[in-house]
Amino acid sequence: MASCSSSARVSFTDNKTIAHRGAWKMDTLPQNSIASLRKAIELKAAGAEFDVRMTKDDVLVINHDPLYAEDTIERKTYQELSKHKLKNGEKLPTLEDYLKAGSKRNSSTRLIVEVKPSIVDKTQGIRAAEKALALVEKLGVENRVVYISFDYAILKRIHALDPKAITQYLTGDKTPAELKADGISGADYHISVYRKNPEWIGQLKKDGMILNAWTVNAAEDMDWLLDQGFDFITTDQPELLLERVKIREKTPAGK
Ligand code: MG
Repeated sequence: MASCSSSARVSFTDNKTIAHRGAWKMDTLPQNSIASLRKAIELKAAGAEFDVRMTKDDVLVINHDPLYAEDTIERKTYQELSKHKLKNGEKLPTLEDYLKAGSKRNSSTRLIVEVKPSIVDKTQGIRAAEKALALVEKLGVENRVVYISFDYAILKRIHALDPKAITQYLTGDKTPAELKADGISGADYHISVYRKNPEWIGQLKKDGMILNAWTVNAAEDMDWLLDQGFDFITTDQPELLLERVKIREKTPAGK
C-alpha cells in the first residue's frame, strides 16, 4: 500500500485479515487478552486490533468497554482495576504489555491500536493518544502500529505529532476528500457505510488511501469486500476470512 511507508522494516502478511480484539472466538479466549493477540499472530493475520483506555493514574490499558469488572476505568487506578483478573487468569493488560507481546516472534501481524474516546472529558482521549504515541516511540515499534479511532480529533492529534503514523477513521461520517485533506491515511468504516456510499470505495482507492471495514463476520460480506479490493477487513472470524482469501488466491482473477 502506498501509504504504508513506516512498515519498511517489518514485512507484514497481505491476507487482509484484521482479528477484532485479537483472535478469541475459536478458542474462547478473553477478547483483548494477550492470549488473543498471540493467537492472531499465530494465525499470521495481517493485523490484530485492540482497544486502549486510560486509567485515573494515566496507565493505558487494553479493554473494550469503559467499565472493567464493574469499575469505570477512567475513575480507578491501575492497581485497583488489576485486582480483577481476566477469565483466563491474565492480569488486565497494559498497552506496554501488549506492544511488547506483539513485537516478539511476530513478522506478520500489524498492531491495530484503537484509542477510545474518553467518557469523562474529551481532552482525556487526546491525552491517551499522546501517551500511546510516546510509548510506541519509546518501545521503537512505530513501524508495527496502525492507529484507529471513532474520535476524529484523536486521529488529527496523532497525525500532527507523527505525520508518518498510519491512521484510519472509524465513524463513517467523513468523505474520502475530508479524510485526505486532514492527512488521515484511510477509512475503517462499518460495512453498511460502504454499501450506502459505494462511490467512496473508488475515491479512496484513487487517492491511495487505505480501505478497511468492520466488523465483518459473514462469508458473503467478506466476499463482497474482497471483490471491491479492500486492503483490510476487520472480523471476529479471522479463520473464516483467511479461508475466503485463500480460496480466492487459488481462483483466477475475476472469477
Ligand atoms: Mg475496537
